[in-house]
Amino acid sequence: MKQLPPDTVRLLSSSQVITSVVNVVKELIENSLDAGASSIDVKLENFGLDRIEVRDNGQGIKAVDTPVMAVRHFTSKICRHEDLEHLETYGFRGEALGSICAVAEVAVTTKTEEDEISTQYTLDLTGKIVSQKPSHLGQGTTVSVMKLFKNLPVRRQCFSSTKKCKEELKKVQDLLMAYAIIKPELRLMLVHNKVVLWQKAKVADNRSALLATLGPSAIANLIPCHHHQEQPEILLEGFFPKPGADYSSTSTSNPDKTFIFVNNRPVQHKEIMKLLRQHYAAQYADDQARNRYPTLMLKISVPPSSVDVNLTPDKTQVLLHNKETALTAVEALLVSLYGFRPNADLPADKH
Ligand code: ADP
Ligand code: MG
Repeated sequence: MKQLPPDTVRLLSSSQVITSVVNVVKELIENSLDAGASSIDVKLENFGLDRIEVRDNGQGIKAVDTPVMAVRHFTSKICRHEDLEHLETYGFRGEALGSICAVAEVAVTTKTEEDEISTQYTLDLTGKIVSQKPSHLGQGTTVSVMKLFKNLPVRRQCFSSTKKCKEELKKVQDLLMAYAIIKPELRLMLVHNKVVLWQKAKVADNRSALLATLGPSAIANLIPCHHHQEQPEILLEGFFPKPGADYSSTSTSNPDKTFIFVNNRPVQHKEIMKLLRQHYAAQYADDQARNRYPTLMLKISVPPSSVDVNLTPDKTQVLLHNKETALTAVEALLVSLYGFRPNADLPADKH
């Protein structure tokens, strides 16, 4: 693991600030996926405010790297800014663990293939190791985040109502579902206060992952679709509502079942979402159906050099360098599937 040089740090998005439970869970899951995990358990206590634990069976952290694992700007994923041109990992800033240590009590237990036993490290506010002891856990890494925002009463106060906590838990579950869909081979489990809320076993492909994640009724009307374009290269794959299917009955008033991925990253992309909604709204006359969001999965793959993931600290928004190409490709896919091009009239997007 290396420290990024200062000129690279300056080019990376502003210092990451941890503002929510879902923020923490996203960073920890992405670290597990970057470590090649095929199994991830997420356990929360008191909606994650008392404890967030993410356990994986990935490659673990080498003993020589542990002193800097949570020190800001130390990463094993890139060495310089140009490496973003061929980025294949979710992480690259070397910031998440450090940012989490600044707002919670953090312990990391890890074991690589070479290690005989695992070691649990307790970290301080700056990400430095304050103590370590042997542990019984197997290969992989477990990060425990306790007393989130204990030193930030105002931020903790934001999560004081049960309603807000439940919303946050739903966001965590939605996030896990997105990774479950894009990573069929991944086993995932979400536990809250020792109760299993949701889990998904390893499956063979995206369709089975959709089935395991959304259930048979939600996917009954979905069909696979595919669109490939060269120069500039873009590949679209996904599962969209069948032409003529009553998509309004399987969709929701939230975009939470409209899963969009760019290079395997779950993203929010306003313009693509708008294009999708225009197409589906045009198929329905009544306003209630028109305001709904389709249940679908759209996976966009472009060369890493033609997408900028360094737009927002949480990486949920991406900049497609050939945005028009992407929008045209999505439109071409929709037109080939449904056989018409809608007029652009839509109620303003709430999301
Ligand atoms: P980044 O992911 O941007 O590199 P992080 O602060 O999230 O920054 O993690 C710092 C480093 O710690 C990673 O580069 C990786 O080497 C190591 N690491 C963190 N979590 C894990 C994990 N679950 N398994 C293996 N290595 C990990
Ligand atoms: Mg990371």
